[in-house]
Amino acid sequence: MLPNGLLSSKAVLYARVSSKEQEREGYSIPAQCKLLRSYAHRHDYQVVREFIDVETAKQSGRTHFTEMIRFLEEHPQVRILLCEKTDRLYRNFKDYVTIDELDLTLVFVKEGSVLNKDSRSHEKFIHGIKVLMAKNYIDNLSEETRKGMQEKAEEGEFPAYAPLGYLHDTAKKTIETDPQRAPIIRQMFEQYATGKFSIRRLEVQAARQGLTTRKGHRVARSSVAQILKNPFYTGAFVWNGKRYQGKHPPLIDKALFVRVQAVAAQRNDTRATAHRFPYTGLLKCAVCGCAITAEIKKDRYIYYHCTFDKGNCRGAYVREEKLERQFEEILGEFQFSEALFDRMREALHQSQKEKAEYHRRAIEKLNAQYAKLQNRIDQIYLDKLDGEVEEAFYRRNVSTWREEQAQIRARIERHEKADQNYIEQGIRLLELARNAQEFFRTHGQAERAALLAFILPGSTIESDRVVPAFKPPFDIIHRIAGEACRVSRGTKKQAASSETTCPTLLPRPDSNQRPSD
Ligand SMILES: [Zn+2]
Repeated sequence: MLPNGLLSSKAVLYARVSSKEQEREGYSIPAQCKLLRSYAHRHDYQVVREFIDVETAKQSGRTHFTEMIRFLEEHPQVRILLCEKTDRLYRNFKDYVTIDELDLTLVFVKEGSVLNKDSRSHEKFIHGIKVLMAKNYIDNLSEETRKGMQEKAEEGEFPAYAPLGYLHDTAKKTIETDPQRAPIIRQMFEQYATGKFSIRRLEVQAARQGLTTRKGHRVARSSVAQILKNPFYTGAFVWNGKRYQGKHPPLIDKALFVRVQAVAAQRNDTRATAHRFPYTGLLKCAVCGCAITAEIKKDRYIYYHCTFDKGNCRGAYVREEKLERQFEEILGEFQFSEALFDRMREALHQSQKEKAEYHRRAIEKLNAQYAKLQNRIDQIYLDKLDGEVEEAFYRRNVSTWREEQAQIRARIERHEKADQNYIEQGIRLLELARNAQEFFRTHGQAERAALLAFILPGSTIESDRVVPAFKPPFDIIHRIAGEACRVSRGTKKQAASSETTCPTLLPRPDSNQRPSD
């Protein structure tokens, strides 16, 4: 018998035994394999490959686990994994994320559980929380990249893509003015500062002068307004809410920029463009992938639609009120009961235990690396005393190793910090998700847009429907909340009209669509 929706019954089998367990009865590889093979036979699964890891005291790596992951990635028709118990498959915390990304049906034979996207079990739910936490934890550890960008900003290097009017010199790693676009943009600032030019007029004029985006499209009116607000053109930039002095050449002076801001404030132009249409930056056209812009019709109705940058498209056209209603509805899908919230907390604590183990091992490894470097430093010091190495050689090596040690220290600290916030952070995320709809209802458009950008950036519009794309970990929370919804509906199967209590069940095409970039 196949789980719902499975086209193929091709399966892989995974067995693992640690050196300690090998000596105990009932834990042997033959015993595990026998159990799994007979299960497969009874349920008509065709086992196409068997992956077996035997750990020795010396070797703890799971070579065959890694091989199995590769095999499953390369064979999309094989989507069933048979394993004795959860702890055979997941040896560390990170494995949850790796396995989850493969979208498999997991059969834990001894525990009697079958987990896949459609399963409705309590195990699946706990499992979901564990995946959520593992993902979140690992993301926090990779803060390194973010930190690197911060350092870059402090040195005056803009850590992102420069705005229109500038080009990246990839050889010199600098940002230079764009000889074609820069004069047109400078003129925009100068003309706007006179107070005699509207944004619309600037847009039309710029198009006539041949100003295009990097992809060669016409520069939209909202982009013109954004350009006029961007301090980057004065040589400064804002990164993570902080202002930095950039290394790039300014296009205009600060006095001109200030005049432009004064004119814009007086005319309410900043409001009339970017602020009045808070959802434009969040969305893309589902049909052609172009940006979404907005305009006012009949002096009072705001319509969001495709920018038609790629020519004819009837992809998206929706009134702001309708857009907001849909957002509110989507955020409502994150709601879950107090009882479920308690269960989530419980799952968090369970997951904490597993994470502690992962964490302990990681720190152990880092400490060993640190000690190894210390040994080298001690040894070379003795060598220097004995006159076996030159002073310069000694200094160069010691400074390199000390630097490596400092990096290891920082990584250990990150592990410790991530550890402290683990449960708190999980609860905060769940609370944010659960209260998202309420927050949306009770806040202004700027805050609403910020919330949406946090939870579902990269969403698209198809005709007048929002197709949400959730950012991790909200994709998982959404899945868990939706599943709980289905579970509670499953228990009330007789009450046929219970659909209204569960918004997740309402059909919405492509709700799992990922951000397109
Ligand atoms: Zn379009």
